[in-house]
Parts: sequence; structure tokens; C-alpha cells
Amino acid sequence: MTLRFLSGAALFTAVTLTVSAQAPAPGSPDALITAAKRAAGADYAGTFLRICVAPDNLNAGGPRGGGPAPRGGGPAPRAVPDRATWYAKPYKVFDNLYFIGTRIHSAWALATNAGIIVIDTLFDYAIEPEMIEGMKTLGLDPRDIKYVLISHAHGDHDQGAALLQNRYGAKVVMGTADWDATLQRAASAPGGVPKRDIAVGREGLKLTLGDTIVDVIATPGHTPGTLSFFFPVRDAGRSLTVAYSGGTAFNFPRQAANFAVYRDSQRKMTEVAVAAGATVLMSNHTEFDRAYDRARIAQLPRVVGEKHPYETDTATVMRYFEMAGNCAEAQRLLVQ
Ligand SMILES: [Zn+2]
Repeated sequence: MTLRFLSGAALFTAVTLTVSAQAPAPGSPDALITAAKRAAGADYAGTFLRICVAPDNLNAGGPRGGGPAPRGGGPAPRAVPDRATWYAKPYKVFDNLYFIGTRIHSAWALATNAGIIVIDTLFDYAIEPEMIEGMKTLGLDPRDIKYVLISHAHGDHDQGAALLQNRYGAKVVMGTADWDATLQRAASAPGGVPKRDIAVGREGLKLTLGDTIVDVIATPGHTPGTLSFFFPVRDAGRSLTVAYSGGTAFNFPRQAANFAVYRDSQRKMTEVAVAAGATVLMSNHTEFDRAYDRARIAQLPRVVGEKHPYETDTATVMRYFEMAGNCAEAQRLLVQ
């Protein structure tokens, strides 16, 4: 048979076979990275680039400039950055959820009918201007803070914990392994050292305050005690479920076992996200969930039927964890 007699369909088949012969083997690192890229789409492109294309731990495992402390140790020395580079105004984002973070790191106040739950607490320099003043600006009283949820014990998320505990009597919730690391810090560490309150193990925790339940999920990986959260928010009275991913970057020792732990936590989050019908994905770095942009967009009027800027659907939330799990599995294979 000559080429002259090939039908269009046969030509298409020949081309397809050629392409698939060049595709990475199923289950290979390349195939996992390709799958992660597809899962990320445009929604999580920045996160995909950070953990799949340029994982932190390729840079000798150190924290990124001025960022979180090495695990097990105290916070790295750093200069307080120019306020103009990080300060963000506070915003009411949902009926019961308030953004009190910086342009870079998220902190949230979740209001209930029995007090406030704060989620993550920023570097020490941002505590007063963002969290305390921010809450007052929004009409919230910091004395109503009952719980402080720490996603993981790195300085960019936990340095406000001791102040909220000491000044307002708030209970600090942290993963057991991250408490162990925190309590090793010097008393002179930025923000001080909180006293051990509520330690969450593998089994997780259902934290109830008034009319609100936060489902605290142990998701070790980014740190050994990383916690993630599911909680309800209301958008003009309509209830939505948030999946809050507590740790993202691969800045931990580059060992296969660590990537396996991280991967398994992403799979667990997928299961819980489906069961909970989560339609909002949040992270604790604004680069990963565009929190600062979304908080500002949420201030604008919407046309009838237009979704809240944070609302997606459960399939989109699942794609985040699928991406993160595939990136971790690719790295696990690459280090073996
Ligand atoms: Zn961290």
C-alpha cells in the first residue's frame, strides 16, 4: 500500500501512534508531572511551578529568603521587610470570614456565634498591624478570639500564636510534632514561644465553637505536624465548605519516605474534600490561592448569578490535591 491510498483516518492513527510512542511511561516521573500539570490547569499554575517544576528542596533544603524557619529549629534571622512590600488592608471576604493577612501570607478570622477562630498568624512584625488592627477595623474584637489554628510551625504562620495566647487567652491548636519543634525554640525567638495547648495527632480533631465546626485533618508532609482544615463559610447566607491546605512547598529533607507521607496526605485531603463537598480551596500563601486578589475582588458588586471569587466546584478543589499528590510522587520516584 502506498501513501496515496491511506485514508485520513489511517493517517490520523499513524500520527497518534507516533505521538503516544513518545509519551512518558505510565507512572513515571514525567507522566506524573504531566498529569499534575493537567490537574493544575490555570487554577493552580503557580503552585504547580513551585512544587513540580522547581521544588524548594532542590536548593539544599533551606528555607526561601527571609521565609520560614528550618524544621526543628528556631526561626532564621531576618530583617523586617519594608512595610510597603507586605502590608494589606483587612477585608471581609465571606459573611463569617475575614482576611487579616499580608500580601504574601494569609491569616483569617472565622467568626462564630460564640467567638472567633483565627487561622494562621503571620510573622511577628505583621501581628499588630494586620491581625489586631485589622480585626478592629473590621469591627471584630480580638478579645473574642477563642482558638488559634496553626497550619504548621514555620515562622511565617505561627509567630503570632504566643501573643494571641498571652494577651487574649486564646487556645493554640497545632499538630503534635510541630508542638514538639516549637517548644524547642529559644524564648527570644521572634513572637515568643506559645505554651502547649491543644496538640492534634494523626486522628485529627473536630473543633466546635458555637455554631461552627472545623474539621482538623492531620496532613504531615510539609512539616511532620502539618494540619489542614475544613470549615463552613457563608456567601450572602449560602453555606460553602472550604478546604484549607496547611502546607505546600517541598522544603523538607529530600527523602523518598518524606514524599510518600506528603503524597498520602494529599490523597486523604481528596477523600475528605469529596465527602465534605468542598468548593473553595484555600492555602496559607497568597501566591497559591490568590487570596489577596480574591479578597479585594470580593469587595466588588456582582451581577446576578455571579459566583463568589473563591467559589469553584468540588472537581476543581480535587484537582489541587491531585496535582500536589502527583508532584510528590514524581519526586519520590526521582530520589529513589
Ligand atoms: Zn512552611
